[in-house]
Amino acid sequence: MLHVDNLIVGAGFTGLCVAHRLQQQGQSYLIVDENQDGGLCSTTAIEGFFFDTTGHVIHHNTALYEDFVRKIMGANLLCLKRKAKFFFQQQLQPYPFQAYFYMLPNYEVVNECIQGLEQVVKCKTRKEPRNFEKWLIANFGKGISKNFLIPYNEKMWRFPLKKISIEWVEKYIPKPDSEQILRIAKGTTFEEKEYGYNQSFFYPKVGGINAFLEAIKQKMGEKFRSSFIKSSLSLVDTNRRKAILSNGTKILWNRLISTIPLPAFLDRLAKIPDAIKLCARSLKFTSLVSLNLGIRREMSTDAHWIYFPEKSIPFHRIVIQSNLSKFVAPDSSQSLIVERSLQHGAHFDRKQEINCIISHLLKNGIIKRKSDILVARANYIRYAYPIYDTVFNKRKYCLLKFLRNLDVYSIGRFGSWEYLSMEDCFIQAMDTAMNLKNMA
Ligand SMILES: Cc1cc2nc3c(=O)[nH]c(=O)nc-3n(C[C@H](O)[C@H](O)[C@H](O)COP(=O)(O)OP(=O)(O)OC[C@H]3O[C@@H](n4cnc5c(N)ncnc54)[C@H](O)[C@@H]3O)c2cc1C
Repeated sequence: MLHVDNLIVGAGFTGLCVAHRLQQQGQSYLIVDENQDGGLCSTTAIEGFFFDTTGHVIHHNTALYEDFVRKIMGANLLCLKRKAKFFFQQQLQPYPFQAYFYMLPNYEVVNECIQGLEQVVKCKTRKEPRNFEKWLIANFGKGISKNFLIPYNEKMWRFPLKKISIEWVEKYIPKPDSEQILRIAKGTTFEEKEYGYNQSFFYPKVGGINAFLEAIKQKMGEKFRSSFIKSSLSLVDTNRRKAILSNGTKILWNRLISTIPLPAFLDRLAKIPDAIKLCARSLKFTSLVSLNLGIRREMSTDAHWIYFPEKSIPFHRIVIQSNLSKFVAPDSSQSLIVERSLQHGAHFDRKQEINCIISHLLKNGIIKRKSDILVARANYIRYAYPIYDTVFNKRKYCLLKFLRNLDVYSIGRFGSWEYLSMEDCFIQAMDTAMNLKNMA
């Protein structure tokens, strides 16, 4: 039987950040993970490519995080200025749609967008809308919503937008000044401006996104290696503060920090009230298929990623990973990550997904010839986007409170069930480690 002060479950980005901070604070920990690949931030090396499991870049909005990234990564860091596009009616346009729709060659669409914006400007004092779809229409107008925002978000969330709340949107959806866009669209002024929350970001020069996590482990050195167990959490008895791993290891803990998805953790509790079980089952989420493609160099765009709003195309985003760093693909090759959401529980057939995505890439001229594909690899990510449906907040806080009373901290993207970036996870990890220090 092992005894630890702090047991961390999950060695994805959040788990690693907590471990790193606890180590800096001189506190002991044990960290377990059923894999050793970095969770959502994993990278796989195949035939000279470094494929990230999904498109990941390092957004930084706070000095604390920027400083952390720079210290951890040293010279293996690129600072990039966002180059994003959207694909609409067979053409690439600068992103975001809501700011650049006036450049579209289709006048009908442009007029629809202008009329919608005029309506928005007229009704500025309206009450705050109650759901995501209404929020989009109220802020961007019917034209922009109909042509881009609604179909794109329906593809990404695979959930009725009328049932999604709006508490997360301000941070993630660029909201340009509608009066200014109207002036630009009508040709009375021109201003080249960057919009949104991720205008510049970092990316590892070598090794893909997982190089960041590997560098954190590197900094922790031998202490991390001797504190890590590769095994799955099977059972937790919160009365005895005991955890059992799938390899049979038994661990007594004082505090448990879980970064695995909330429902998965609750499923492992020896005793759980029925009401909590029901609450956990009601949490909604979207799954994701991401296709890594290694191709012979042929795409002419320098975009880092491209959004696809049209319903006739099954995926919603392509990240051109080799435009983030040329070192993730062999010379004269490129690598793409094609992302397609699936409703949670929807059937996933690897071969079918690969064929379907590739056929649409060819049909839309994104890749020219099938014979240019060097590697194709489909990943299935069960937990990709936590859905903020209109009832989730109350339920989530009820679950987190239940666990906190048992000295369990459930944090991270699916531990806290929030649409968190890596930076948000880092901040949660810092706060949690600080709480643990104060209690030690
Ligand atoms: C499509 C997509 C794109 C994204 N893009 C960006 C981006 O560009 N920039 C950004 O900052 N953020 C991005 N994010 C968010 C980012 O990936 C997450 O915020 C972050 O990686 C979450 O880390 P985590 O440790 O909380 O969770 P995870 O990475 O999910 O880690 C959880 C860990 O728990 C382990 N585990 C699960 N069950 C068990 C068990 N029973 N026993 C032991 N271990 C277990 C898993 O193996 C995993 O390693 C993106 C997310 C998605 C889905």
